[in-house]
Amino acid sequence: MHLVVVVGAGPAGMSVANLLSKAGHEVIILNRDIKFGGLAEYGIFPSKLKLRGGLRKSYWEILERPNVHYFGNVTVGNGRDLTVEELRSLGASALVFATGAQGTKTIGVEGDSALGVYHAKDVVYHFNRLPGFSERPFDMGRRVAVIGVGDVMVDIAHWLIRYKQVEQVTAIARRGPLERKYNPKEIRAVCANIDQAALQEEFARIRPRLEAVGQDPDKIFKEMTEEFTKCEPKASQTRMGFRFLASPKRVLTDANNRVRGLEIEETKLEPKGQDTAAVGLKQYYEFPCDSVVFAVGDRVDETVGLPYKNGVFVTNPKASGNDPDDALFQAYDEASGKVVEGVFLTGWARKASEGLVGIAKRDGEWCAEVLTRYLGTQTPRDRTAVQGVLNRLRRLLEERNVTAVGVDELRALEAAEKACTEPQGCIGEFKFATNQEMLQQIRRHRAKSVSV
Ligand SMILES: Cc1cc2nc3c(=O)[nH]c(=O)nc-3n(C[C@H](O)[C@H](O)[C@H](O)COP(=O)(O)OP(=O)(O)OC[C@H]3O[C@@H](n4cnc5c(N)ncnc54)[C@H](O)[C@@H]3O)c2cc1C
Repeated sequence: MHLVVVVGAGPAGMSVANLLSKAGHEVIILNRDIKFGGLAEYGIFPSKLKLRGGLRKSYWEILERPNVHYFGNVTVGNGRDLTVEELRSLGASALVFATGAQGTKTIGVEGDSALGVYHAKDVVYHFNRLPGFSERPFDMGRRVAVIGVGDVMVDIAHWLIRYKQVEQVTAIARRGPLERKYNPKEIRAVCANIDQAALQEEFARIRPRLEAVGQDPDKIFKEMTEEFTKCEPKASQTRMGFRFLASPKRVLTDANNRVRGLEIEETKLEPKGQDTAAVGLKQYYEFPCDSVVFAVGDRVDETVGLPYKNGVFVTNPKASGNDPDDALFQAYDEASGKVVEGVFLTGWARKASEGLVGIAKRDGEWCAEVLTRYLGTQTPRDRTAVQGVLNRLRRLLEERNVTAVGVDELRALEAAEKACTEPQGCIGEFKFATNQEMLQQIRRHRAKSVSV
C-alpha cells in the first residue's frame, strides 16, 4: 500500500484519486475550495444541471471511500496554508498537483486594469458562486466586448444574455470566422440572440481579406449559420454579434478610468503552415463598449511553488526509460536539471485550458498509470505510517488555524443548501456564496454532532 497526496479536487485530481484508491492505496486530497469539483462545480454553466449532477455524484462516491481523506479549504502555495516543501516532508509516497490553471492570461494592452475590464474565469467563478468571486460586483454596463471566440466566450455571452440582459455582446477575434473555436453545440445556448443581418454585414466587411487567403466567405457563412439550429429559446432582447480580423490594442477609458471602448487594429490573415496567423494592418478604429472581458485562456498559478516558466509548470523534457510518456507528468527543476522527486502534475495544471472534463479525467487516469509505475519503485507504507502522515497534517493545519473541511461536513453543507428553498429567498440550485456562510453551517453541524 502507498499513500499519495493529491492537491486539487477537480476532474483531474478526482480521477487520480479514483484509480489509486480503487487499487487499494490511501489518498489524501487537499483542495483550495471547500467544495470539490473544481471547474466542474464552479466553471460549467449553471444551467447544465445534468452534467454537474452526474459529476458530483461520481465524486461523492470516490470521497466516501474509507481510504480517501478529503481536506477542503486548504490552499497549497508560498505564503498559503501549506507549502510544497512541507507537503513533501510529510512522508507520503508521492504528490500529485491537479490544481488547474488558476492564473489568467492577458494580452497585455494599455488600460487593461481599467474599471470594467474583467478576466473570463473571474466572471465565470462569479456566476457560479465561488466564494471570493460571488460577492464581487461585476458592473458590465450595456455593451460588452468579449475578447475570444471559444467556449468560454459563449458561456460569458450566455450569462450576459440570460441573466444580465445587456443590450449588446460582441465577440472579438483577431482572426476570422473560419478560425472560430467554440463547439457548435455550445453556440445553441446563445444563437437565438445572434443578429444574423449584422453578421452578414460583418462578412461583407472582411470578404476581400478572407478571399486573399483562399477562404470562401459564402461557404463559411453558410457553415457558421447552419450551426444556429436547435437554439435555446430567446431569453432576452440582447443582440449578439462578432467582430473579426480585429486585434484589441488599447482599452479606452473616461476621466474616471472606466471603460468607454476599445482601440482595435484591423488585421489580415496569413498562411502559417496548415493554419493561419493574424497580421496587424496598422489601421485603427474605436469600438465603443462599457466593459471588456478577456476570454483568451488561462495560465497556472505560479505561487503554488512548483518550477514555473511562461505560464506553465515545468515538466521533465527528457523522455527516458521504458515509458517515455512518464516524463510528461513529472515536475522538473531546470536550475538543477533534475525531476522533482515524487512530484507529478495532471489536468489543467499540466496543460492549461486543455479540453473538457473528459480530457482532464483521461489525463488523471494517465497520470495514475504513471504513478503506479513510480510507486512500484518505492517502499510501501503501512497503516501506522499513513496514520502518522495524517496526524502530522492535521497538526500543521491546526497550528495555522486552518479550518479544513471533511466529507461529513460537506454532506451537512449540501443538506443545508438543499433545505434552502424559494420562500427563503434561495432561487434555483442554491449555493452559499461565501466561505464564511459555509463554515457557519459546518460549525452548526459540528456543534449538533457533539451534543448528540
Ligand atoms: C468557463 C468554463 C466552462 C466550462 N464548461 C465545460 C462544460 O460545459 N463541459 C465540460 O466538459 N468541460 C467544461 N469546461 C472544462 C472543464 O471544466 C475542465 O476541463 C476541467 O475542470 C479541468 O480539470 P482540472 O481538474 O485540471 O482543473 P480544475 O477543474 O480547475 O480543478 C482544480 C482544483 O484545484 C484546486 N486548487 C487550485 N489551486 C489550489 C491550491 N493552490 N491548493 C489547493 N487546491 C487548489 C481548486 O480548488 C480546484 O478544485 C469548462 C471550463 C471553463 C473554464
